[in-house]
Amino acid sequence: MIEALRLLVEAESFSSDPEGLERCAAVIDGLCREVLGTGTSAAGAHRVWRREGDRPVLLLCHFDTVWPPGTLAGFPFEVEDGVARGPGTFDMKAGIVQCVEAIRQVPEGPVTVLFTGDEEIGSPTSRPLIEQEARGARAVLVLEPAAARRVKVARKGTGTYRVEVTGRAAHAGLAPDEGINAAVELARQIEAIGDLADPRAGTTVTVTMLGGGTAANVVPESAWCTVDVRMWSEEEAGRVDGAMARLRSPVEGSEIRVTGGLNRGPLEREASEGLYRRLVALGYDVGEAEVGGASDGNFTAALGVPTLDGLGAVGGGAHARAEHVLIDEMAPRAEMVARLTVDLLSDA
Ligand SMILES: [Zn+2]
Repeated sequence: MIEALRLLVEAESFSSDPEGLERCAAVIDGLCREVLGTGTSAAGAHRVWRREGDRPVLLLCHFDTVWPPGTLAGFPFEVEDGVARGPGTFDMKAGIVQCVEAIRQVPEGPVTVLFTGDEEIGSPTSRPLIEQEARGARAVLVLEPAAARRVKVARKGTGTYRVEVTGRAAHAGLAPDEGINAAVELARQIEAIGDLADPRAGTTVTVTMLGGGTAANVVPESAWCTVDVRMWSEEEAGRVDGAMARLRSPVEGSEIRVTGGLNRGPLEREASEGLYRRLVALGYDVGEAEVGGASDGNFTAALGVPTLDGLGAVGGGAHARAEHVLIDEMAPRAEMVARLTVDLLSDA
């Protein structure tokens, strides 16, 4: 398993690097061929491996990382004192290794394994594939990293918006009053946008980037900001989305355009409850975590398909130089996923 992890990590696979993704996918094909024989179908940057049959268990992995090509030079794959380090080890190449090992331990029954290459950028091209495979599945197991050892039973939904304010340009010295200052209007809107957060419901609304204007002596004709939104429930998603769409400028001659929207809906606890109970019944009371970050499990849960997330690597430091995986946990976690899969397949 360590050797497989090394092969995967050394095939750098930044979400926006098609060649790197292809090399990494080739490594995955090599690993899967061993356990699933034939039966691959490439789908763009993504890979689907399956053992045919009705209502399979769908295992979900992504092999893209947040690390640009060349990262490996200063942050190489290393194993020391039971810890593996390197770009993408924890999120989520160790999960891929554990997934393949789990399948090896499931001798029969329909399984589909989907490996996607664009999760870290919101899954723009894999989403239809994920949803299509999930619709026919009896359950979805997501091999994203664990929270400490806990599995993820709820994930916040996420949305990203861009707010553009248009005003009127004017000379800041000669005729400032003839202008409509888009930056000032944006500042007002930013306050209103911040008020959409609801700490009690766990809904966050965060302005993350902003800009505007064309020159230091010109009243800005335009200004913009981006907004990151996260929420636990569909209800909150709808409330914030509606309010964003209704943003209007009270200043005559000034206009507001809002683009973007919800990306992944929330993974609510009801989607994962039954699967977690099965895990506990199998002797794995690993604990439940509710986390702010979304994953592709959010898509499948939104379709009403039972989904359990965070079944992958144990370690830490996702998206950071501290990224690492605990080697001793890899085999037991793989066995846990195998036993849960066999249990699910035993249902009629
Ligand atoms: Zn991930």
